[in-house]
Formats: sequence, structure tokens, C-alpha cells
Amino acid sequence: MIMLSYDNALRHVLGSREPLRGQQTLLEQALGLVCAADIVAPFPFPPFTNSAMDGFAVRGSDIRQATNVRPIVLPISGIAVAGSQPSILRASSAVHIMTGAPLPEGADAVVPIEDVTVTGTDVEFRTPAADGENVRHRGTDQAPGDVVIQAGDVICPAHVGVAAMCGQESILTIPRPTVAIMSTGDELVTPGQTLRPGCVYNSNLYAIRAQVIEADGIPTVCIHAGDTIEEISQGLELCKGADIVITIGGVSMGERDLVRKAVEARGTLDFWKVAIRPGKPLAFGSVHNSAFFGLPGNPVSAMVTFELFVRPLIRKLGNHRTIHRERKGANLVEDLTHAPGRRSFQRVNISQAGNILHARPVFSQSSSALRSMVLANALVEIPEDSTGIKRGEIVSAIMIGPVAI
Ligand code: AMP
Ligand code: MG
Repeated sequence: MIMLSYDNALRHVLGSREPLRGQQTLLEQALGLVCAADIVAPFPFPPFTNSAMDGFAVRGSDIRQATNVRPIVLPISGIAVAGSQPSILRASSAVHIMTGAPLPEGADAVVPIEDVTVTGTDVEFRTPAADGENVRHRGTDQAPGDVVIQAGDVICPAHVGVAAMCGQESILTIPRPTVAIMSTGDELVTPGQTLRPGCVYNSNLYAIRAQVIEADGIPTVCIHAGDTIEEISQGLELCKGADIVITIGGVSMGERDLVRKAVEARGTLDFWKVAIRPGKPLAFGSVHNSAFFGLPGNPVSAMVTFELFVRPLIRKLGNHRTIHRERKGANLVEDLTHAPGRRSFQRVNISQAGNILHARPVFSQSSSALRSMVLANALVEIPEDSTGIKRGEIVSAIMIGPVAI
């Protein structure tokens, strides 16, 4: 099998699957999910003309001459509370009205309670009311057919409120893609257990799981298998049903055939090498109808290949508008060396000084130096044929974390 270029591999991965289908989700569960279809206002809002204040509903013409010196007194002919049926305003009278109550027919303004004096069954006005004052007219906020939530919007609290305002108890949303993760390796010990000689703790399973959540996927099965075809095969059976299955490790010489054989018995591999650094031994295909990624075991390679290939697919399945990370231009403050051959993604720390972003390479570009990923908040993409980038040049940084302020 030929070694794919980064561009071809990414195109292949993203072209292999379509976004998941929408499902009705109760408003209580919809926050943060991607809306699957436009939501259109079914009726005008407000649905009826109503009062914006507690006060008195009047015909403006009845109190046009009102002044401080010569107030106008009208009899109170009724009371309108929120939730009541619309009433009728008798000529030359006022209706005591509460916020949200339907404006009585014939009224065209509401005078706030604090601007009048009530004496027994009468109310005294000292200023005229402008036409429509403190009145919320039917349909002014939203007309039937207005798109209130767009497909692709990530549901925020206001969306939830607007959907409820339209009378919907649920929203059609794209489910978060489910991701099963299996690490491999006889040398790996679960954190919390005693470390045996010659062993290291299993960091990848936890780091990748966290990356799945950050990418807006749901980690489901998270398991570990020793380096036998039986354990790896059993593990893959447990991963059945996830949208994406990820294995980590088991791709170095001698081990390589284990993951590959177990996957090929249950699906297909489209490629297992990409011309990138870090992360050349990256496999992609399908297993039990799930998309399959075989990530390299080196901790940095696993995280970086997740960033470059798995995260975009999770976001595509989730129908996110932003599939790719944001890129920012930054001033390189130290030379970056590069051996031509593969596309490289070097770890840098981006910091802000005034309006300028500075990119500083982290202490190590080794694919096992996981601590470098703590310091890195961006990856600088270096073309295959480049012999390095000199300090002072502006590089395009793929932002994978926040810039410290
Ligand atoms: P492999 O691809 O399985 O040959 O692993 C390559 C390197 O990554 C080895 O040094 C492994 O010990 C290390 N490695 C593999 N998987 C993990 C893991 N889950 N956590 C930490 N290190 C790992
Ligand atoms: Mg291994």
C-alpha cells in the first residue's frame, strides 16, 4: 500500500462518512447539540397585543388634554390580568391592566401605574399618552415563517427558550458521535495500579478519551488489550456499535499485524500510512460498519493524529459548521528545523504581546514527550519540501488550545 499524503488522507477520511441523522431531543437535553433542521416560527409573537406595563389602558384621545394643572379623571371600567380574555374598553373610561394582559379592544395606550392617581373607582391622568405607548403589538417580535433557529446552530440557552416560546417540546438535533477507544500494549499499566519494572502508565487511553469529549463526541467503551490477537479481537467486539472505533498502538514492526489482522477480519483498512510527522503509522478504514482509526502508540503521535484526522471526522458526523481548527498567523520567534520528506506538524506555544502573536517551539518535538503537548497550544504545519522556517517569519498556526492571557 502506498503512503498517502496528508491532504489525500484527510480528504479520504472526511469523504468516507456522512453526518449522523437528526433525532428529536427534549428541550431539557438539547443544550450544546447541533440543530438538524431550521425551526420556523409557527405563529406571530406576541400572539396578541398586550400591555408592557402595569397601569391603565386608555384611548389616547380621552386624555389628550391632560396636564398637571388640569388632570383628566376617568372611571375605572374593568381590570385585565395576564391570562385573561381580551375585554372591551368602554368609551371615556380606563381599564386597570397588568403586564402581559391582552390590551382591551378600543385601547391604544397604557399609562404606567406610577404616573396616575387612583381615587376610589376613578383614575386621574396628568399627562397625555402617545399612541401605542407601553403596548406590545401582535407579531412585532416574530412573524410566522421567521427562522428562529438555523440548522447547524449549536443550541444555546436562548435557542432553548425560543423553541419553548414557539410551543415546541423538542428540537431535531444531531446526536453526538459515539467513540469506542481501545489501547493496546503489554507494557501498559492502569493509573492507580503499581508500576511494574519495564512498564509505563497508560496515558493515551485517558488523553484520547478527553480529546473525544473536547471534540464534542461521546466516549463509550474505553478498554485496554494486551498484545495478542485474541485480546485485540475481543476488544473490537466490545467496540461494536460506536460511530467511530479507535485503537491506539500495536502498529510498530512485529506488532503491526495484530491490530491490522483483527480489523481486517471485521472490516477493511483503506490505508495505514500517511506521510506526516509525527504519526506516520496511521490506519483508517471500517470495522463492523464503524469508522476505524488505528492511531500510533507514541503519546504525542496519538494526540496529534487525533487532532488532524479523528477530530474533523467527529465534527463532520456531528454536522458542526466548524470541522477544522481555527488558524492564526503568528510571528515565529525561534528557527524551526525540518528534514524534507513528510508534512510536519510542530508543536509551538502561541503567546500574545499587544496585538502580535508569537509562536515559540516547545522544548521537544519528540513524539514521546507528552509534556510538550501541555505546553503547546498550536501546531505549525510545515510543507513536505521545506528545509525549515526562520525566526521572524509569519507561520500559520493550527490552534489546538487557548492562548494564555
Ligand atoms: P506501539 O505503537 O504500540 O509500538 O507503541 C509505541 C510507543 O508508544 C511505545 O513506547 C509504547 O509504550 C507507547 N505507548 C503505546 N500505547 C500507549 C499508551 N496507551 N499509553 C502510553 N504509552 C503508550
Ligand atoms: Mg504496543
